[in-house]
Amino acid sequence: MRHSPSDLKPVDRHLADILATVRPLAPLELDLERALGAVLAEDVTAPVDLPPFDNSAMDGYAVVAADLALVPATLPVTEDVAAGDPSVHAIGPGLTARIMTGAPLPAGADTVVPVEYTDGGTAHVVVHRQVERGNAIRRAGEDVRVGDVVLAEGTRIGAAQIGILAGVGRRRVLVRPVPRVAVLSTGAELAEPGTPLGYGQIWESNSFMLAAAVREAGGEAFRVGSVTDDPRVFMETLDAQLVRADAVITSGGVSMGAYEPVKEGLSPLGTVKFEKVAMQPGMPQGFGVVGDDQIPIFTLPGNPVSSYVSFVLFVRPALRRMQGLPASLPSTVQAVCDARLRSPKGRRSYLRAVLSGDKVTPARGQGSHQLAALAAADALIVVPEDVTEVPEGTTVEVIPL
Ligand code: AMP
Ligand code: MG
Repeated sequence: MRHSPSDLKPVDRHLADILATVRPLAPLELDLERALGAVLAEDVTAPVDLPPFDNSAMDGYAVVAADLALVPATLPVTEDVAAGDPSVHAIGPGLTARIMTGAPLPAGADTVVPVEYTDGGTAHVVVHRQVERGNAIRRAGEDVRVGDVVLAEGTRIGAAQIGILAGVGRRRVLVRPVPRVAVLSTGAELAEPGTPLGYGQIWESNSFMLAAAVREAGGEAFRVGSVTDDPRVFMETLDAQLVRADAVITSGGVSMGAYEPVKEGLSPLGTVKFEKVAMQPGMPQGFGVVGDDQIPIFTLPGNPVSSYVSFVLFVRPALRRMQGLPASLPSTVQAVCDARLRSPKGRRSYLRAVLSGDKVTPARGQGSHQLAALAAADALIVVPEDVTEVPEGTTVEVIPL
């Protein structure tokens, strides 16, 4: 099929339209145990110094360094100081306290001698080795100063971030929640993986792949599975998902043929636009809003490679926007292409490829149904709209996947 460039909407304009519609999710306060994967909607500061007090980094003895001028030295032990002890006495010159890791340093002490350098005595201790003044002391504020921003707004919360949030005493944090995305496939020919294939059937892959892509992009996916090519069944299934979704992704049923349930079901609403975007694969695209809450819906083409590439170009940036993160087309690197490429005029091609260092090798199978080639690829070569031939050895733009 030929398309005059004027029929086709540029890739950048399609993404711009999407990003103009999609809004960051409203921030909400979450308990720390539910905040994993969410994005901070506030700067988090330390309410106190961390550590909050000078304390011992080792099990040993708190001493005055000058008392170790000559070793071995024998010193009386005045008390035991354990982590969590509510009060600790000062020590004077010539005295020592047995101290455990994390226990507050007694006033007057300036050094901790590890137990390994002593006889481990409890009434008196013999210290065999000298240590530097200040040894094994963790100073108040040496990790974080009171008022320091420990995590900035826009940070995605992983395990280490949960750690510092708890470490600065936070039980609740203001976050943009993880977007909940319903993923729905259409196609009368689709059989659920794990069931036998009938005549003319293929196993349904897109809902699994797109749900996984949502999770990789930081969202929470509900895989609804697939529905047949009946627009009414499609619309009923969609409707049932809207209550729990911040966005919907569909695959299939948006092309130029008959039996296109997504296009037929959604077109009458007037809130979803079906367009031809100047790209290959993935030319038929739809985007708009559905339901009372005007939930964004991405109606991706059904060919598996087309739906994947569409996700990378359009849905992933939108999910970032929903999380309050900067959103744009994926960034590219440059590499030398070691084969000749062809690309249709007026459409931007995204060719599956393997990137190794500054060399990129296009995959053999460039058909939009060739899922195995996609799975073997780790990059997309981008060929601009006005380029139809790329000689071997040309430097090209590449999206690492
Ligand atoms: P469509 O966009 O519905 O016209 O589908 C285009 C091509 O993609 C057809 O060959 C479909 O069989 C195939 N296809 C559509 N949906 C899926 C799916 N969920 N999983 C695998 N292949 C699909
Ligand atoms: Mg179909």
